Formats: sequence, structure tokens, C-alpha cells
Amino acid sequence: MSEPLLNVQGLNAFYGQGHVLHDVNLTVKSGEIVSLVGRNGAGKTTTLKSIMGVLRSRTGRVTFQGKDLTRLPSHRVARVGLAWVPEERGILSTLSVRENLELPPKRPGGWSLDKIYEHFPVLRERGRHPGSKLSGGEQQMLAIARVLSSAPKLLLLDEPSEGLAPVIVQRIGEMLQTLRDEGMSIILVEQNLRFAARLADRHYVMVNGAVVEEVARADMAAREADLLRYLSV
Ligand code: ATP
Repeated sequence: MSEPLLNVQGLNAFYGQGHVLHDVNLTVKSGEIVSLVGRNGAGKTTTLKSIMGVLRSRTGRVTFQGKDLTRLPSHRVARVGLAWVPEERGILSTLSVRENLELPPKRPGGWSLDKIYEHFPVLRERGRHPGSKLSGGEQQMLAIARVLSSAPKLLLLDEPSEGLAPVIVQRIGEMLQTLRDEGMSIILVEQNLRFAARLADRHYVMVNGAVVEEVARADMAAREADLLRYLSV
């Protein structure tokens, strides 16, 4: 079997004395969308921060295309092809949509402004508007689109559906399908299990900082009711 794109083995993470992640193992294959689902505080965001090297107090091994990321600072992790879109979205509210898109570093193979506008025309329509004047859904689209100029191979998305109306969530889902069709792989952190179930090829269920179950797309229909009940409590 070929080496996965991302391989996380025996990941433990700490905030000060607090031991937050416990022996997390997960893989992402090229072209896959993988979800991390779990309640508030289950450790999903901490997993993304540990992979990106934003949280440095961790043990275990994280490899990307066979390259060990564990010792790299986060800006170097970004350079090898990972992009993190945090829950707070990180767009600059006083700058226009276009300025937000032009600001991040460009890398060979990264998307041009024209390509971004072509695929997500709503961003072109809103090009001159300041970030603060966008709807929640437009802000989320911008937050994702602004990492594309750096040619990421793997996107780490933290709750892209949060706080959005169902019709907008649908649109974000279509955006993620487009990015997958363009060859990107995605780790999707979600509390919205239905949204994750529509998109992801596999799901990792996290409880108290550990992965307790892996569910393949084909088995999701059988597990969904149980997981929904669990996640909504
Ligand atoms: P959420 O959706 O609420 O972000 P999550 O599954 O992403 O949930 P994490 O944010 O990874 O969970 O949090 C995992 C655990 O780590 C929680 O118990 C949380 O209280 C704790 N934690 C998170 N950030 C910090 C921090 N900066 N300092 C100390 N503890 C933290």
C-alpha cells in the first residue's frame, strides 16, 4: 500500500501540565476528505494545531509525504503544503476581499486571483467590500480561498460550517468538493455530523482527546443515528 499523504502516529499534546491528546493516530490519503468529529473540548482543534506545529508541546510523529514535520516551525510546515484555516477565520476586516486574497505568500502552482474568482465568483462580486461587510458564509469562503495562493496539498479546516444557515453550509460543501476535484486533500473538523457525513470519505470520532472510532463512508449510514445522539448531548 502506498504511503499516506499525512501520517499521524502516537500524538500526545499538552497545555502546560494538561495532557490533552492521548496517542492519536490518523492518516489522510491523497485526494481524501477525512473528518474529525466530536463534542466541544474533544481535542479536534488541538489535533490541527499539533499537526501544523502551532502547538509545540507534543510528542509522537507527524509525517507528510514521508517528511517528518515534528521538528519544523509552523511557517515551514505551511511551506511543505499544509494550510490551516482556523475557526476564527483569520481574515482582515479592514481590508477588502481582494486585498485579503492578495496578501498571503504566492508559491509556484498556487491559485492566481483570476483562478480564485473563476471558481468562486461571489468573491469577485464582493472584491471591493471590506472583510467586515461580508456575510458569515462569504467570510468563510474568503478564509478558505485566501490560503489557495500558497498551493496547499492538504487543508486543515476548523468548523467551516459553524454559525451558518443550511443553504450557506451547502455552498461551503460545494466549495470543498471543488477543491477536492482540484486535487487537494482535506481534514475537516466538524460538530455538524450531517455536513461531515456528506463530504468525508472517513471519519475519526474523538472523545476526551482520543480517537475512539474510525467510521468509513460506507458504514456511516448505520452509525449516524448513534453518533448524532452522542454528539448532540
Ligand atoms: P472546540 O470545538 O470547543 O474547539 P475541540 O474538540 O476543538 O473543541 P480543543 O479546543 O482541542 O477541543 O480542546 C481540547 C481540550 O484542551 C479541552 O479540554 C480544552 O479545555 C483544552 N484547551 C484548549 N485550548 C487550551 C489552552 N490554550 N490552554 C489550556 N487548555 C486548553
